[in-house]
Amino acid sequence: MKKEINKLEKIIDALPQLQCKKCTYDDCESYAQAILYSNESISKCEPGANQTKNLLQKLINGEADFEEFRIENYQIAHIKYDECIGCTICIKVCPVDAIIGARRKQHYIINDKCNGCELCIEQCPVDCMEMIHNDSQLSWIWPSAKSEDSKARYYRKLARANHEKNTRDIINQEEKIKQYLKLAIEREAKKREFLDR
Ligand code: SF4
Ligand code: SF4
Ligand code: SF4
Repeated sequence: MKKEINKLEKIIDALPQLQCKKCTYDDCESYAQAILYSNESISKCEPGANQTKNLLQKLINGEADFEEFRIENYQIAHIKYDECIGCTICIKVCPVDAIIGARRKQHYIINDKCNGCELCIEQCPVDCMEMIHNDSQLSWIWPSAKSEDSKARYYRKLARANHEKNTRDIINQEEKIKQYLKLAIEREAKKREFLDR
């Protein structure tokens, strides 16, 4: 079992940590699980391309040594600020919390945190987002401190979303119980009214 977990962790680490869904899975970890447990193809990570595919093959054969990989010409998102209407959609979509802004106010990219996943670009309702060259870092490298930070930010966002969902579920459950008790009290009152006649 420990061996399987180690293998899964190695497969996850072999992936670029963009959480971009281009492999058709929700995130890098889901794709790694599908490779290990459901015999999924190893060529679905578009950003990692052949370098990822080759490493995955070695990992599956149990013969891999970790290397450093890179996506050249790494781009980051940019907002045409005067066109942004502050709808907040991009904030919700960004897997690593790399966008800041308030409702109906201009939004901003935290350049240093954007991993270039492109998920926000298509979602902007006024088409004011684009990908531009990242002047301060020309390649996306993994594993690296930056890819680890990207992974950590993604899991923090995921944990927050799960927590919010659980809170909503509890509130809904409480509402249902309140509604049920209200109806039960009303039924009982009607029954008494009828018996007292
Ligand atoms: S980086 Fe690769 S494995 Fe990770 S979500 Fe994107 S396509 Fe999938
Ligand atoms: S800002 Fe856009 S491109 Fe950058 S990480 Fe967030 S969703 Fe991806
Ligand atoms: S999705 Fe587009 S319009 Fe909406 S907040 Fe983001 S950049 Fe602005």
